[in-house]
Amino acid sequence: MATGVDFIVEAGVVVPGAGSPPLTGSGVAVSGGRLVELGPMVELRRHHPHVPVHGGPEFLLSPGAVNAHTHLGLVWARGLAHDDRHPVYDLFWPIEGSLTPELVGRLARVAVAESLLSGVTTIADHYFFAEATAGACLEVGARGALGQTVMTEFGPWASPSAVAESLEFVRRHLHDETIHPVVAPHAPDTVGEDALVELFGAAAELGVPVHLHLAQSRREIDTMVERCGRGSVRYLNDLGLLDQTVVAAHCMFATGAEFDIIAEHPGVSPVYCPTVHALLSPVLPAADLLGRHINVALGSDATPNDRYDVWTEARTAVTGQAVLTGRPGALRPLEALDMATVRGASALGLEGEIARLAPGMKADLVLWRTDTARMTPLGDPAAMLVTAAGSREVHSVWVEGRRVVEAGVLLGAEEAEVAATGRAAVAELLSGVA
Ligand SMILES: [Zn+2]
Repeated sequence: MATGVDFIVEAGVVVPGAGSPPLTGSGVAVSGGRLVELGPMVELRRHHPHVPVHGGPEFLLSPGAVNAHTHLGLVWARGLAHDDRHPVYDLFWPIEGSLTPELVGRLARVAVAESLLSGVTTIADHYFFAEATAGACLEVGARGALGQTVMTEFGPWASPSAVAESLEFVRRHLHDETIHPVVAPHAPDTVGEDALVELFGAAAELGVPVHLHLAQSRREIDTMVERCGRGSVRYLNDLGLLDQTVVAAHCMFATGAEFDIIAEHPGVSPVYCPTVHALLSPVLPAADLLGRHINVALGSDATPNDRYDVWTEARTAVTGQAVLTGRPGALRPLEALDMATVRGASALGLEGEIARLAPGMKADLVLWRTDTARMTPLGDPAAMLVTAAGSREVHSVWVEGRRVVEAGVLLGAEEAEVAATGRAAVAELLSGVA
């Protein structure tokens, strides 16, 4: 049988994802960063007799989660945005002008560490100094779908050269294994029309997604209506920019007619960020959009959500949609599981690569403890990943076959050092502003 297998991961229950039923007493065999076999442990042991076996019957194995929208370097604002100010315009922008690549790198390490320790293996990030964020992902060990934010109007770092810098980042990382570059205009109101058209065109040509904020605030919509008499989604559609892979963060201010436009463009994936939508309102009608065959992914975003844990977001999505619709079961836990995994992968154009367990897929794995009080009894294991499990249950994590968390401990960097370095970076940033 197959040779060259590096290791096997065994679990009492394997949740392959993408609607496949859980398998008991099974595992996966990994070779060169990819899964080569999924099946009963008896067979795996027979096929690969002298290969190291991790895990065991007391664990649950799942794909890692995909965070489809966040800002790792924005971790500096954690805990600071729980008042009446709009976080983007009144808190972030006045301070972000003082960021440096070095500070962003130190800050991003904190959020990458938290992500991995929560069982999130792929992070779609949108921020300044993307090269520093890429460094943090490579060092600590996460898969990054990263874009260098472009602003040409308003905001910190608004500059005509932002377009070229953003595209240079994409070209540098086009063939990387764990850094997947994206083109990242900030939003329709902060990027001029010529730059926007150029960025979307370049993304289509290079075969990478566009990741932007879309219909994210009342202020954005007011600016667009004043500028061109239309909301953001209609504006992009009229420019012919929606026939490609677009990760559309938020969309909560899109109109009904604009959701019809999104439904006609299967490459466009709104990203629901349940905690941020609940705090800032309105809430994206995610369950309704899924019913209209729109691919809705999940993101943590950043502050005022003070976590980078997409598994928590999946749980909040279930409760948030029940509150929004008044219907318990409006969004079922298994639908939220898909949003946190395969739908996120799909949004990023990585559906054949990550976020489900099957031969040929990248080995981005999370091994969960099931011997904890919270996971007892293990009713519906797949649903419980969303409704019950938390980061305390995350035992081990692999990204591209590299083990990055073991026994709840980060391996790529030391968590205490990452936190200390991050705290110092925040102090430096905030003192520079004062
Ligand atoms: Zn955002």
